[in-house]
Amino acid sequence: MKMECHFIQSDQLQKLLDNLLANGYVCIGPQVRDGAIIYDEINSTKQLPRGVTDTQAPGSYTLNNNSSDKYFDWANGPQAIKPLLFASRESLWQSEQSVNGQISFITTEPILKPIAIIGVRACDIAAMKIQDQHFLQQQFVDPYYKIRRDNLLTVAVNCGCPAEMCFCHSTGDGPFVDDGADVVMTELDSGFLISAHSSQGEKLLKGLTLQPVTQRQIEESETIRIKSSKQNKNLPHYDIKSRLFNALRDEFWHEIATKCLSCGNCTAVCPTCFCHNETDVAELDGKSSIHYRQWDSCFSQGHSYIHGITIRSETSQRYRQWLTHKFSSWHEQYGRSGCVGCGRCIAWCPVGIDVTESLANFEDRRRG
Ligand code: SF4
Ligand code: SF4
Repeated sequence: MKMECHFIQSDQLQKLLDNLLANGYVCIGPQVRDGAIIYDEINSTKQLPRGVTDTQAPGSYTLNNNSSDKYFDWANGPQAIKPLLFASRESLWQSEQSVNGQISFITTEPILKPIAIIGVRACDIAAMKIQDQHFLQQQFVDPYYKIRRDNLLTVAVNCGCPAEMCFCHSTGDGPFVDDGADVVMTELDSGFLISAHSSQGEKLLKGLTLQPVTQRQIEESETIRIKSSKQNKNLPHYDIKSRLFNALRDEFWHEIATKCLSCGNCTAVCPTCFCHNETDVAELDGKSSIHYRQWDSCFSQGHSYIHGITIRSETSQRYRQWLTHKFSSWHEQYGRSGCVGCGRCIAWCPVGIDVTESLANFEDRRRG
């Protein structure tokens, strides 16, 4: 579809929210909570983190006030939009035994109102596209993911403030959104550039006071894009996929295991990780049970427990599994790496392990 760009004044952001609410959407947007920017329900632009920015470093994240009047002058916090599509814990079915002993299974597919997420960044749109590949594969569609995905509308905001940990430019996933969102905005000093990327997005724009875009506004947006693309962290340029597959016995895995706590924080904050486990919780009367699915991590002992043994009992094996899956075997499954360069696993690793440095280490060894 032809994507026409318009300009809206800042006050139109509240109008956009009002239109979504009037059309039955639950609006989710960024807001400050417990010292971080997270996504939760929102009905007013006053709830947005205006005048707030962040400082990130390996193992460190802090919010600061800044002098800007912008609503989106910050980089992504710990929470991706992943939990809104792939719930961290949900029941997949219930079973019940009737008085005559028959067991019946009851589906627990969620009944949801449509959700609109405001302020999604390019890296999270890219991660959503990866999760779509995983959960909506033609013959294996996950109905729980699908029902949420079918009811989702995304209003993305191009990133004008990447953190020190971001490297979306080198993975090709940001800082500006190419496709995958319904509406894309760029925040300028005086308002927003806005364009619809789907028919739902077009409908949403019809309720706003749209103005033509000036050359000066286009130039301001381009300046933001160029500045945001200059990121300090990068993926190394060697053939990561083959190099990691050929390094399964490398001493690096033992070196990194002396630091790594196997805590699984990196997988919890990662917007593309989809590992989970399933468990049944039975009622004490033995007449009913609920089957739950919940997030798991390749860093947990139980995740590789099969038939009485834990396949990856050592932290070195688990870190190797994580890195080689993300950057090697993911290519075979989904035609690209499993990393969108959001940097969350670096900022939220309690000991500050940096995935770009882990990968650069293999480049150094090749040279050496
Ligand atoms: S591996 Fe790290 S940087 Fe890459 S997508 Fe996951 S959390 Fe983000
Ligand atoms: S790399 Fe960091 S976040 Fe991930 S399991 Fe190890 S210590 Fe935890």
